[in-house]
Formats: sequence, structure tokens, C-alpha cells
Amino acid sequence: MAMSVPANSQWNRFLARPALVLGGALLIGLLLGHPWPALAIAALGLLGGQQLRLRRLVQRLSARQRIPVGTGKDAWSDLDQLLHRSQEETRHRAQRLVEMLRAYRAAAAALPDAVVVLDRDTQRVQWFNEAAGHLLGLRYPEDTNAPLAERLRPLPIANWLAGGRYAEALLDVPSPLDASTRLSLRLIPYSDRFWLLVARDVTKLMHLEHIRRDFVANVSHELRTPLTVIHGYLEMLDPQEQPDWAPILAEMRRQSQRMTQLVEDLLTLSRLESQDSLNEEVVAMDSTLATLCREAEALGTGRHVVSVEDRAGVDLLGSPRELHSAFSNLVSNAVRYTPAGGSIDIVFELDGDGGAILSVRDSGYGIPEAHLPRLTERFYRVSTSRSRELGGTGLGLAIVKHVLQLHQARLEVTSEVGQGSTFTCRFPAGRSVARAGQEVDA
Ligand code: ADP
Repeated sequence: MAMSVPANSQWNRFLARPALVLGGALLIGLLLGHPWPALAIAALGLLGGQQLRLRRLVQRLSARQRIPVGTGKDAWSDLDQLLHRSQEETRHRAQRLVEMLRAYRAAAAALPDAVVVLDRDTQRVQWFNEAAGHLLGLRYPEDTNAPLAERLRPLPIANWLAGGRYAEALLDVPSPLDASTRLSLRLIPYSDRFWLLVARDVTKLMHLEHIRRDFVANVSHELRTPLTVIHGYLEMLDPQEQPDWAPILAEMRRQSQRMTQLVEDLLTLSRLESQDSLNEEVVAMDSTLATLCREAEALGTGRHVVSVEDRAGVDLLGSPRELHSAFSNLVSNAVRYTPAGGSIDIVFELDGDGGAILSVRDSGYGIPEAHLPRLTERFYRVSTSRSRELGGTGLGLAIVKHVLQLHQARLEVTSEVGQGSTFTCRFPAGRSVARAGQEVDA
């Protein structure tokens, strides 16, 4: 509520008292026969009075005291009231802000996840909640302002912080207090000055994931032997001896082959998932590309135009077996999802940062955009019937994704329905090795 004083009343408040004092002094002066000295004394008295009230007000304001509301009717009392009101409003606003801040802090402190506020430049701890104590071992007040990477030294924090806002979440790291507690860490930049580190206890989740992985691996392993037996017997049966059974036999063979492939792919995925890193060696890319070209031609039985371009002049550092399996999956998809007469181009080149790129481009059916983000999920298919018909298991791209992750590489897919698709594997610079006798130019 704003206080306003009417204009004529302002006139009264500002001038009535001085006019009265000066008028009275003039009258007394005239009666005494010395009007000027009386007027001068009255004016000085008025000025002194104003100075005194001004000084008192300034003193009270600078002492940050509450200003008592003036009861008088003059301009000083108006000023008192206005200042009092604005002081009260500011005080209320500040109180509300403090309460809000306390509520946010209490909420952050009560979170079951560890929350640490970091200074972005110094990477020192600014604030942390209670959970940061029992998940990360931070202690108050010793660790306030401590450098986080040093404080959590057993964790691979330094490299990760160097990645800043681009750092990917660390998914399964041991707690510095107890290695059996598994944590997932995320770095969230939330202002120009601060980052938020959030650590979540994922021990139970990781345990379940472990059980799931073991279960799939065990089931796949157990299925392998009976399938080999069935497959073996089916191969022994001669359809010519029982012509009526020929189509049934052919279907049984096809299905048993599909099941065998499914089991092999599941075992491959389990093996990849249980690895954190791979045995690394130099993978000769010229021979790998030649093999991929041969495989594409054999699988397509000459129905496609296959081309290979090796523009990179580097080799890759990684696992020859896994990389071949990933590239081969992409080539096999390109062949299977491209009708006869289409083209398949395999290109190996360098990117601007010294990394290497292998892309498999086809002129096939293409993939609607809505499906692209989910392609690497297990058993995700754009068209289940087409995938089955073409002998797919729905696990090929999941295998590709895992192999690339183990090489710190990533898969990119672009596609247009009816025009074809391009699957691109991007390897970081650290994975390119100069080929013997060749210079690398990015
Ligand atoms: P699948 O064994 O079914 O081919 P993948 O994991 O290899 O399984 O691929 C998943 C799905 O992505 C496929 O079912 C198919 O719908 C789609 N896909 C993969 N590669 C291509 C491609 N080159 N062209 C069109 N669709 C593709």
C-alpha cells in the first residue's frame, strides 16, 4: 500500500510551521522595534531544528535500526512513515527469501542421493548434503573448500571433471568408503560458476543387472548343446528320402539355425557386457575392409553393387575380433535391408580431429526417423516380420553399440525412408594408429 499525501496538504506540512514561526518572530520583532534580528534568530532556529532531525534520521538509518513511526503531522513524520514502510517491506522480502533458501537446503540435505556443489573453476567443494558423507566420505567442515578430485582420489574423478559439461555419467564406480557400494555419478552444470555432482547408490540395481546378465548367459549356454544336437540330426536327415517331409525339414532347419544364431548373439552380448576393457592390438584396416567387401558380396550373392573406399590411411587400436563382429553386423544389415540392384558403400576416413570414421551406406528401405533413437535396444526392430524373414535376431545393433562403447567410439545413424541408411562408427583420435609406411593427415 503506497502512502500519498495530497498536494495542498504537502504545502501545509512543508510551509505551515516555518511560516508560523517566521510570522510570529516578525510580529514580536516589530513589537520590540527590531524585526530583522528576531527574523534571523527564528530562521536560524528553524534551520537548526531541520538539521537536527535530519542528523537523527541518518544516524538511525545507518545503525540499521527499525525507525519508529513518527506521530507528528509535519514532513519529517511523513518521511519517517515512508522509510518505516519500505524498511518493513524489505525486511519481509528478505525473510521470505531466507525461508525459501532454508527450505531448498533442507530438501537437498534430505535427498537420499549425495549432492555436492562444486566451484566450476577451482573444482573445490562449496557445499554438500548428508548423503555425501556416507556415500562419498565427505566430512563437514574439513572438506568444505577441498579440491574434489584430491578428496575422492580412489575414484577416476580428475579425468572426468576435465570433461566438464560433456562428461558422461560414471555408471558403476565403487564408493571410496566401501568398494561393495556401487555408485553412479553425474555432473550437472547449473550456472556459470557452479557444478552439481550427484552420486546415487546403485548397488541393488547393479546386483540385479548382474543376476540378469548371468541368467541370460547361463540360459544361452545351456541352450547351445541341445540346439547343436538338434541341428546335427536335422542335417543328417535327407529330404529326398521323405519328399513329403521336405518343406517341413527345410523349415525346421531354418528355425534351428535362427535359434542357434540367437543364442550366439546373446552369448556375444553377455561377453561384451561383462568386460570393462579389451585386449588391444593394431587392427589392420586394409585387410578388414577387404574381408567386409567379400562378406557383403557373398551374403548378397552378387545382387548388390558393393564398393569400399579406404581414405584414412590409418589402422585402429582395438580388438580385431569384436571390431570385425561390429562392422560385419552393419554390413550384413545393409545387405539384408537393401533390395536387389541397390548399392552398399563402405568408407573408412579420418575426421577433422584425427579420429577415424567407418561408415556403411546403403540405398535400401531406410528407417523412419521415429525409430532411430531406439535401434540399438535389444530386440528392437522397425518391422519384426521383415527382420525375421531376413534372418535377423534383433541383437545386431546392440552388439555394435557395446563393441563401440568398449572402444570409446559411438554409432550415428542417418536414414531416409525409400532412400537408404548410413551407419557411422566414430572412433576418437586415440584409436587411430599410423599405418606402417604412411603419414596421417587429418
Ligand atoms: P536385426 O537382426 O533385426 O537386423 P539389428 O539389431 O541388426 O537387428 O537391427 C535392428 C533393426 O534396425 C532391424 O530390425 C531393422 O528394422 C533396422 N535396421 C538395421 N539396419 C538397417 C538398415 N541398414 N536399413 C534399414 N533398416 C535397418
